[in-house]
Amino acid sequence: MDSPFLVTTPRPGSALLIRDLLHRVRAWAPQQTVTYRNLLTLTYAEVLDRIDRLGGWLRDLGVVPGDRIGVMDWDSHRYLELYFAVPMSGAALHTVNVRLTPEQIAWTIRHAGDSVLFVHPDFLPLLAACREHLGSVRRIIVMPDGGAPVPAGFKADAEYETGLAAARPIGAWPSFSEDAVATLFYTTGTTGDPKGVYFSHRQIVLHTLGAGLALAVQDDPFAFRASDVYLPLTPMFHVHAWGLPYLATMLGMKQVYPGKYEPALLLELLERHAITFSHCVPTILQMLLHHPASGTVDWHRLKLVIGGAALPPGLARHAQERGIRILGGYGMSETCPIIAVAHVKPEDADADAETRFGIVTRTGFPVPLVEAVALDPLGRRLPPGRNNVGELALRAPWLTAGYLGNEEGTERLWRDGWLHTGDIAYIDTEGYIRITDRLKDVIKIGGEWISSLELEAALGRHPGVREVAVVGVPDAKWDERPHAEVVLRDEARGTVTARDLQHHLHACIEDGSIHKRAILTGIALVGALPKTSVGKIDKKGLRERLAVENAPKGNDRRPN
Ligand code: AMP
Repeated sequence: MDSPFLVTTPRPGSALLIRDLLHRVRAWAPQQTVTYRNLLTLTYAEVLDRIDRLGGWLRDLGVVPGDRIGVMDWDSHRYLELYFAVPMSGAALHTVNVRLTPEQIAWTIRHAGDSVLFVHPDFLPLLAACREHLGSVRRIIVMPDGGAPVPAGFKADAEYETGLAAARPIGAWPSFSEDAVATLFYTTGTTGDPKGVYFSHRQIVLHTLGAGLALAVQDDPFAFRASDVYLPLTPMFHVHAWGLPYLATMLGMKQVYPGKYEPALLLELLERHAITFSHCVPTILQMLLHHPASGTVDWHRLKLVIGGAALPPGLARHAQERGIRILGGYGMSETCPIIAVAHVKPEDADADAETRFGIVTRTGFPVPLVEAVALDPLGRRLPPGRNNVGELALRAPWLTAGYLGNEEGTERLWRDGWLHTGDIAYIDTEGYIRITDRLKDVIKIGGEWISSLELEAALGRHPGVREVAVVGVPDAKWDERPHAEVVLRDEARGTVTARDLQHHLHACIEDGSIHKRAILTGIALVGALPKTSVGKIDKKGLRERLAVENAPKGNDRRPN
């Protein structure tokens, strides 16, 4: 036996496992509810029973620790059940990014080596198209809403509700190391194949506790409280919907899952269930606030964490005017994801509203257990201060160990023992992270680096601008010059012109808020901006489109 001072074998029960997140809710909130769209409401007692049955069913299907199980669903109670039952069985939950192309989806399923797929019928046509390329998939289980029959023309191996009803609860969940992989999903980089990131049980548990502590401990109007009603507005396939379904379930909160994001239904659910806590990328907030039915929602009760992309100041202001308590946050796929949240420090709690607004719209303050630094190009740590801009690098217990099966990518990500984010940032003198741009998005004009985010913020301050993206385009004289694509607000269409926006930029140059080279910015008014698979503005897609449009005519060469 180990001496208590020299432990080489973990003590039984000491591992941090996802199943431990469920102990409290069993007794604390068995009658609290989890709702799916306007279709179904379950109590936690029922959800926990279904998780136990799912465990028994997975065991009967031959799922063993180390297997990978893929899920293709919109945000649902089923997804929540799989968030728990799959890792608790010792298998890794592959949350398939259903917004990728069919080829990319098949590629990720093959690469992950999924043996069983749980699929909403909306994705069956897509799977039918690539079924012979699914590699190791042995079984496909369909999950129609309300147990409706499986659509004709597709032979599934089982149906979710039927399988659950027939299954025996698992009884005893298997034991394994807390370092076993619990979740896995793929990010789409700027080049090459999607990259798989993965997280262990220990990491998910620590992330849940870390995020919970950061969000709940603050004595301010943004805190995540047990009495909150929670609805996620970031897809469950993307970084576990920021991990908050694990937290909301651990705390036994009332939860609502919206299924496929349909703006009118989202607004209806926000109002009907009096949702008080959610989180999303800026483009989703933009879409909700500009929807014709947005006036039907009482926004004052909503606390909303905005992250995943820079928060445009104009949007933040608009949300604040509608009464939403917005709070900036920062993270990425590789970081599980929560790294920083823009809480106000206790000493600033009595500051005027404008000062507090300035704080909560910053990138964020590192949450407990996160170490965040800006590194210079030689990998040296930069001191705090806005003139000390470098690459943001991180250490925390919940950062991905690497990219699955991609040693080169992993080495690049983890150079010198720091996770390199690819974001340009400084740490301000109060300790908040300030992202100034993404390395790939910064615009190099005649040897100087100009932040695309800074130009976007300046254009976004024009009252006629609804959305804007700025990218660098090649230029013979300057190397690159900025190009802005702007979507106007409905009321500005036909009155505000690109010339007006140029004048606005000149005024910003004169008042010193942007770099003088911003004068080179070309401006195009467009109907919509391209979006990524997770709903962010797709600058890569925009750059590619502009490269094709600007390619010399009569020349067969295409950009890579
Ligand atoms: P993803 O891996 O798709 O979640 O994207 C992560 C990237 O989104 C980060 O590396 C940042 O470039 C960007 N991002 C996330 N949160 C913020 C934020 N608060 N401000 C600026 N950029 C952000």
